Amino acid sequence: MSIKIEENASLKNLNSFAVEACCRYLVRLKKPEQLKEILADPRFEKLPRLILGGGSNILFRQDFPGFVIQVKNRGIQLLYEDDVHYFVQAAAGENWHAFVQHSLKQGWAGLENLSCIPGTVGAAPIQNIGAYGVELEERFHALNAIDLTTGEAITFDRDACQFSYRDSLFKKNRDHYLVTDVTFKLPKNPKWKLDYAGIHEMLDDTKPVSARAISDVVCQLRQKKLPDPTLIGNAGSFFKNPLVSDDRFQMLKADFPDMPAWPQSDDLIKLSAAWLIEQCGWKGKRYRDAGVSENHALVLVNHGNASGDEIWHLAEAIIHSVKEKYEIILQPEPLIL
Ligand SMILES: Cc1cc2nc3c(=O)[nH]c(=O)nc-3n(C[C@H](O)[C@H](O)[C@H](O)COP(=O)(O)OP(=O)(O)OC[C@H]3O[C@@H](n4cnc5c(N)ncnc54)[C@H](O)[C@@H]3O)c2cc1C
Repeated sequence: MSIKIEENASLKNLNSFAVEACCRYLVRLKKPEQLKEILADPRFEKLPRLILGGGSNILFRQDFPGFVIQVKNRGIQLLYEDDVHYFVQAAAGENWHAFVQHSLKQGWAGLENLSCIPGTVGAAPIQNIGAYGVELEERFHALNAIDLTTGEAITFDRDACQFSYRDSLFKKNRDHYLVTDVTFKLPKNPKWKLDYAGIHEMLDDTKPVSARAISDVVCQLRQKKLPDPTLIGNAGSFFKNPLVSDDRFQMLKADFPDMPAWPQSDDLIKLSAAWLIEQCGWKGKRYRDAGVSENHALVLVNHGNASGDEIWHLAEAIIHSVKEKYEIILQPEPLIL
């Protein structure tokens, strides 16, 4: 049976900002094999394309004039195990948080700090998702993808993905490779990461630490801090934390002694984008229905009927004022279209 191609489809329910936007064609890919048919479609070759997961890291400023392929394949399996690791493969269309919870139920630890991140498994490597002291690359083994220009299947190991802070080969070569599944390397004797943003304090110290307990605490912490996109549209952190050299940081520190910072490798210092935005007075501010969350200055929200352009207008005003005060140019984290 041939794959259904929807014309002029609304994307409002397919992006977590819940902004109104249409695409020329939408296909929901349940099996990677269906891609052959799409690649052979003459309309596909000519038009721009977008691979979509859960739409939780995208801002549509306007209608999308091409093909949207929403990845919906399912399946999770233990591929093999050795003395030290479980190698677990999940289809790209699996919901990320549901996959983490499934892994915990099977006794496969390692992803607990990444609980409650919206979106799909296939999108997780694109920006090397990270939270509460863990980045995806630390648990990543390999992924399978299809090159949309040739239709060829390719396997990428960890080095080939070129992971870095909220970045990867795939983010740099957008919509070139469609990820079909990801394999994780989960440790049999995990070392808990508890020293980040209150996890330790919230754990029940009368009980042994477990992956389950960490996951529950991470979800509680996130629910307190981050607006729920099913209630108020948002894409989580709208800006990346800026990375500066140590020299540059020392100059900033002389003028702004309270500026928070986290040393990274290679003489790089990570600054807090939320702090910079808050210092510029943006927390809780609003432009029409676009706003800055009252709880978290890094999160831009849709109070109801904001357009993608209005949200972007607010983002630009924030970028401008942070640049004026600190000479730092904030980079958006979501894909802006
Ligand atoms: C409330 C909230 C909290 C968040 N917290 C965090 C956090 O703590 N840490 C974090 O890192 N992120 C966070 N995010 C951002 C987001 O959840 C992640 O980036 C997530 O991985 C996006 O998944 P998605 O399926 O929704 O991707 P989409 O938004 O659909 O797509 C994101 C990018 O990935 C590409 N893509 C999607 N699927 C595929 C595929 N199968 N093959 C190739 N390319 C693909 C898209 O083309 C696009 O470029 C948060 C978002 C929200 C709304």
